[in-house]
Amino acid sequence: MSHVFPRHTKADLPTAVAGDGCYLIDANGKRYFDGSGGAAVSCLGHSDAAVIRAVQDQVGKLAFAHTGFMTSEPAEALADLLISQAPGDLDRVYFVSGGSEATEAAIKLARQYHLERGEPARRHLIARRQSYHGNTLGALAAGGNAWRRQQFDPLLIGVSHIAPCYEYAERKPDESAFDYGQRVANELEAEILRLGPETVMAFMAEPVVGATSGAVAPVAGYFKRIREICDQYGVLLILDEVMCGMGRTGHLFACDADGIAPDILCIAKGLGAGYQPIGAMLCSGQIYDAVAKGSGFFQHGHTYIGHPVATAAGLAVVEQMLSRDLVSRCASMGEQLQAALVDRFGDHPHVGDIRGRGLFRGIELVADRGTKSPFDPVLGLAARIKRASFDGGLICYPMSGTRDGRQGDHILLAPPFIISQPQITEVVDKLDLAITQALATV
Ligand code: PLP
Repeated sequence: MSHVFPRHTKADLPTAVAGDGCYLIDANGKRYFDGSGGAAVSCLGHSDAAVIRAVQDQVGKLAFAHTGFMTSEPAEALADLLISQAPGDLDRVYFVSGGSEATEAAIKLARQYHLERGEPARRHLIARRQSYHGNTLGALAAGGNAWRRQQFDPLLIGVSHIAPCYEYAERKPDESAFDYGQRVANELEAEILRLGPETVMAFMAEPVVGATSGAVAPVAGYFKRIREICDQYGVLLILDEVMCGMGRTGHLFACDADGIAPDILCIAKGLGAGYQPIGAMLCSGQIYDAVAKGSGFFQHGHTYIGHPVATAAGLAVVEQMLSRDLVSRCASMGEQLQAALVDRFGDHPHVGDIRGRGLFRGIELVADRGTKSPFDPVLGLAARIKRASFDGGLICYPMSGTRDGRQGDHILLAPPFIISQPQITEVVDKLDLAITQALATV
């Protein structure tokens, strides 16, 4: 009997014992193609020799030094490398151990920044419906996914949620994509004005929405308008690239595609590529200076921030991405994956939308393509597809609640950047079979 507290108490899970490129192997020798990189984590696959060596070397040299006393060479080098590539005025890197820690730190830094500048009234955070920013209490409060929030609602701080930019489901038929984007971006201005501009500290959003919606990218012009509104009212723009960042969309930083830069940027997942748990919050020089010239310290911290082995892994991952031009590869393989998905499912009666950027792709399933109406949530279609796919040797990331946290189903694909053309065919074949099998049971 296991003493591990698993995610689901009734699931009977195989034991993973090895990784080989894009595949995971269980104790019975069964191979699974990792078509979602777990949850958009394993961007380099499961056996990258350079990253494994970097981790081994670092743990042999220096396993840990608490950042309250010392800095470390890999943390310094990784911060330099990230900032050399980062958009806009991002100038400082605060290392953490995962995505939720990055978004929590971002929320707290936004608050402290305004305090340091003598604007203590700024306390409101605005985020979007159907977003996910993590599972710790601050991050969960920021997220707008009803299903994840529901049972913890009494514990969550008040956060305003405006509309997402979800063209497939929410653009009006008589509206251009651009006009739709401007309309929903302008909800931010309306909410700032409703709350009182002098009380709003930050707006948080995922450039491409991941877990909750299935690779939903914004329409052209949306984030430019968001940036404008934030600037006009002195509201910090926090972009959560925990899932969509680190090359996943075909850009090292996802917001590069939208031609804007945030004041604070959160990354994780692909930064450690699964070789170590690591995340980071990047902030502008202006924010850093406000703290440095004010109280002198960020009232935050965890034991493992800036961990030498985690940062050594992150450094090796980013070096691999850059030296092997894997971000461009992600962009071109992403186009091939999209083409293969459209070719296979473009006329499927229950596939409403195939979307995303780079190797971050979503398929939205609908009961009726014409009306875009979702399947009855009671059917649990996403869970059925997940099971059928896993049995068939493909790990993908289906999820229900796509539309509003309850209704809708999608499948998220986020394979390693090293995926080959024959492996794209393998993914599409296995997915096709899983969707057919799952639909046959509803
Ligand atoms: N933010 C986004 C956009 C995410 O997708 C996730 C995880 O899926 C998180 C934050 C939380 O990251 P973690 O699970 O590493 O805490």
